Amino acid sequence: MQTLHLRLKQSCLALFSAALLLSTNSTQAAQTQPNFIVIFADDLGYGDLSCFGHPTISTPNLDQMAAEGQKWTNFYVAACVCTPSRAGLLTGRLPIRNGMCSDNRRVLFPNSAGGLPPSEITIAKFLKQKGYQTAAIGKWHLGHLPAYLPTSHGFDSYYGIPYSNDMDRIVKGSNIDLANQEDYKAYDLPLMRNTEVSERPVDQRTITRRYTEEAVKFIHQAQAKGDQAKPYFIYLAHNLPHVPLFRSAKFKDSSLAGIYGDVIAEIDWSVGQVMAAVKEASEKSPQAQTYVIFTSDNGPWLTYKTHGGSAGLLRDGKGSTWEGGMREPTAMWAWPKQLKSGVVQQMGSTLDLLPTFAGLIGEKVPSDRIYDGYDLSPVLLGTGPSPRKEMFYYHGEQLFAVRSGQYKAHFKTKTSYVKGQKMVEHNPPLLYHLGHDPSEKHNIAKDHPEIIEQIKQLAEQHRKGIKPVENQLTKKIED
Ligand code: MG
Repeated sequence: MQTLHLRLKQSCLALFSAALLLSTNSTQAAQTQPNFIVIFADDLGYGDLSCFGHPTISTPNLDQMAAEGQKWTNFYVAACVCTPSRAGLLTGRLPIRNGMCSDNRRVLFPNSAGGLPPSEITIAKFLKQKGYQTAAIGKWHLGHLPAYLPTSHGFDSYYGIPYSNDMDRIVKGSNIDLANQEDYKAYDLPLMRNTEVSERPVDQRTITRRYTEEAVKFIHQAQAKGDQAKPYFIYLAHNLPHVPLFRSAKFKDSSLAGIYGDVIAEIDWSVGQVMAAVKEASEKSPQAQTYVIFTSDNGPWLTYKTHGGSAGLLRDGKGSTWEGGMREPTAMWAWPKQLKSGVVQQMGSTLDLLPTFAGLIGEKVPSDRIYDGYDLSPVLLGTGPSPRKEMFYYHGEQLFAVRSGQYKAHFKTKTSYVKGQKMVEHNPPLLYHLGHDPSEKHNIAKDHPEIIEQIKQLAEQHRKGIKPVENQLTKKIED
């Protein structure tokens, strides 16, 4: 009898242990790593959001994102035009390191044979190795041939246009006139689903809405398994407000700022949809933290007048290494655990996103290559300052300017997209204090030769670390 009692007790203990083990395994399977969403606008200027001071463009969702999270006022891109800027964001490396910038062809075109080399590790490839599901939605512009598409670079899926929305133009006329006529068929632009063309020409009037629906669907599907869901990374790269400008009927004439304001209003609506989806999905998976980062690939295309944006008080725009070309309106937000909210005046860059995501999941970046990014997670979490103290401004393959702390020295300058403008070399370099003079109006080079010397040394040290590689932008299909 006593033996039977003992056996029963042992069986109960075994059952209890098995139940405990199952419950532990189930807890371990819960999503413990955060989700990441990068929303990347195209040619949006520093002054184009209401939270960055625009008086007639209204961006309530981005304003909310910046107010609840962080508004970054010194956030830079890796280059002042599309292709190299995107290469920098996705790899954490300056485009000069992987051949994704050129003095001859500044971006990739439909007849380009090159693209982001397969040896590069994108954020998607990095996170996929850590168990993430990944989606690219929107403009790619890192190579449209199969070897270079998002699905060859760590993304599980792709939905978007492979290069800029003004390419493949088949009708004569200006990008302004064609946009005003809503003539999207003037651009024989393909919309791709993974590696196949799903629509051509793509109806650009509905493109922002469709990218948004795709992102929202992905968020809901990704979190459908609740705590069992795999973490995700979404790269949502809107192809607007790059000219030609298109918006859906709902946003037509919605803004005091005309067609440009309408386009920004639709992108802002899109941000609101993404934030709402993150909040809703979070109810199914309350342990899953999601970080959302909004910025732009380069400054406003100023030669397009009211169809181009504004860099606010910053000098110049797209294609230039003045601040207006490379400093972008940036907001970071997280849910359900909020970021340390406020205005961040320290430096950050799209180059920092890969190392920052690595930091937030407790991983290190690969050690087999040079990274130009820093882990900004201490700033996001409010535990420390930004490790970024300098910024290198490339124009094509040439280092034009360097920022160190508040000082920026220009070795060369050039205003792009204006006919007849030549590159000017400066010796001594132009020097500006970006804290006192964010508009770069007052050259203080003669008062600070010692600062110029320090920045020259920094530039020299940087140049020594750059190795020549095959250029990807100059290769053409017909060659
Ligand atoms: Mg751009």
